[in-house]
Amino acid sequence: MAKLSWDVSVLLPGTWRGATSVLIANDRHRMVVDTGMAHEAHLLVKALEKKGVRPSDIDLVFNTHFHIDHVLNNSLFPNSAIYGSQQCYDWCRAAYADLLDEQNWEKLALKYYPETYDYERSEELMGKLRKLALRWWDPRRLGDPSQFRWVETHPLPEDLECLVTSGHVPGHVSLIIHGQDGRVVVAGDALLTRDHDEQVLTMIPVNRKLFQQDRERILSIPGRILPGHDQEFSTPRKTADTPVTQK
Ligand SMILES: [Zn+2]
Repeated sequence: MAKLSWDVSVLLPGTWRGATSVLIANDRHRMVVDTGMAHEAHLLVKALEKKGVRPSDIDLVFNTHFHIDHVLNNSLFPNSAIYGSQQCYDWCRAAYADLLDEQNWEKLALKYYPETYDYERSEELMGKLRKLALRWWDPRRLGDPSQFRWVETHPLPEDLECLVTSGHVPGHVSLIIHGQDGRVVVAGDALLTRDHDEQVLTMIPVNRKLFQQDRERILSIPGRILPGHDQEFSTPRKTADTPVTQK
């Protein structure tokens, strides 16, 4: 019988300036989860090469969300289907288009980030976000529109599960992989880092309360956790000896 269990390995480890990119593969599919920034293209290709995989071998891409640090090498995989949330795609495309509006971007940004001014360094953060957009945003690098399979209407392949984590951006999806050795969560930016999200808060969450809840939800899942901008770690497995509730 064919071995269908997913094997999960990190291609680009997440750092405060670069997003985690992951290869998941079984006998049927090879999927890249989040594809990084344009200037990381050669690193991504090299990391795939090390696994004996060419870009043309990738038949599936999954985007946790459509911020520039997660999607700009989708275009390396023109033959793949791309899974992502349509809600998130539409939201991010509209947000970047408005951020590039020379005259009104500051006002328009509030439409997307209504909690902006609850943050101390909000002006600086929004300015940075705009600068990144000016420098890197290029919708052509997202892949051809015909490649998209919206998770709202398309089921994922076997043993893959979407966890909607909308605190970071609306429609953000973390990916849960039910592998041979237990569960793996590719958190995307629902969990930026293991301990210190504030240090990589290049982006303020759309909804801070929901963002906190998403984070706790992910940390409650026993297994391997791959944050959006940090090294992977494991949460303890629940065993028969571990009391679920403490009295
Ligand atoms: Zn990110």
